[in-house]
Amino acid sequence: MKVGFIGLGRMGAAMATNLLKAGHEVAVWNRSPDKADALVQAGARRAASPRDAAEAAVVMSMLADDAAVEAVVHGADGILDAPALHVSHSTISIALAERLAADHAGRAGYVSAPVFGRPAAAEAGKLFVVAAGATDHLDRCAPLLDAVSQRVFRIGETPSAANLVKLSGNFMIMSAVEALAEAMTLAEKGGVARETLLAVLTGTLFGAPVYQTYGEILAQDRFRPAGFSAPLGLKDMNLVDAAATASQVPMPLLGVVRDHLRAAIAQEGEDIDWAGVALAVRRGAGIG
Ligand code: NAP
Repeated sequence: MKVGFIGLGRMGAAMATNLLKAGHEVAVWNRSPDKADALVQAGARRAASPRDAAEAAVVMSMLADDAAVEAVVHGADGILDAPALHVSHSTISIALAERLAADHAGRAGYVSAPVFGRPAAAEAGKLFVVAAGATDHLDRCAPLLDAVSQRVFRIGETPSAANLVKLSGNFMIMSAVEALAEAMTLAEKGGVARETLLAVLTGTLFGAPVYQTYGEILAQDRFRPAGFSAPLGLKDMNLVDAAATASQVPMPLLGVVRDHLRAAIAQEGEDIDWAGVALAVRRGAGIG
């Protein structure tokens, strides 16, 4: 299929590579052009602008935040009036997803398709996609979503619902990391190695992927280079807060994890992985 891909960061570059490997005809665009070089060498076409990338059946975007998505959709040479169905993978606000759905209506169409999985999962084509939009739109982009993921969850016709699921899931990941960090700090200060605690936890009641993936990162202090940067994680917790405020849902745990993310960024800098909250937790216990 003829497809455009916009946003070649840690996640987007890996996803676009898998589209090429699956035999699709891919045009790529990134704000910093050098990030397209490897994909162009691998056979992608270098698009001159977002609008040029969207001269296709489908255009997929994987961008940092609301401002980035707004820039490529509504900005100069944006994709709003392009012929391509827009499939948006970025983790963005509910409000922007609703606006994108409205703005694309009567045009080529819009699907929200945020993903679960870190860059290693994106490279392996093992992401989980949560997709929502009109059925014919979901059918059209299905082969592309299959090429970047191990499973696609179709959750209905309202695109922003997929973003709400993604934000709910990221709140749970951050809460799981916080719980792991507190438990590991308690164990370590009492003389039990983090690895020992993790082996028991994941071998008994906590064998879920989130504890395994983040447990290893915390046990081995693998916070740099960031797979998912703490500033993007903080962005997501702020988006969760906006959704909770709009729906009047108290989320006291959200305040705790968000403050630890702020502390981790303040203490460690913006290049730290969001799992770096563990460093703030350890410092609080006097062992960081
Ligand atoms: P990243 O490596 O920081 O890449 C961000 C991308 O957005 C880059 O292509 C960047 O372009 C582009 N961008 C930023 N501001 C822009 C603007 N104003 N105009 C145009 N382009 C702009 O981030 P990532 O880790 O790939 O994450 C991308 C999205 O996926 C985020 O919404 C994130 O929350 C979500 N996500 C990430 C993970 C993960 O583990 N990393 C997992 C699931 C979901 P430049 O290269 O020019 O800076």
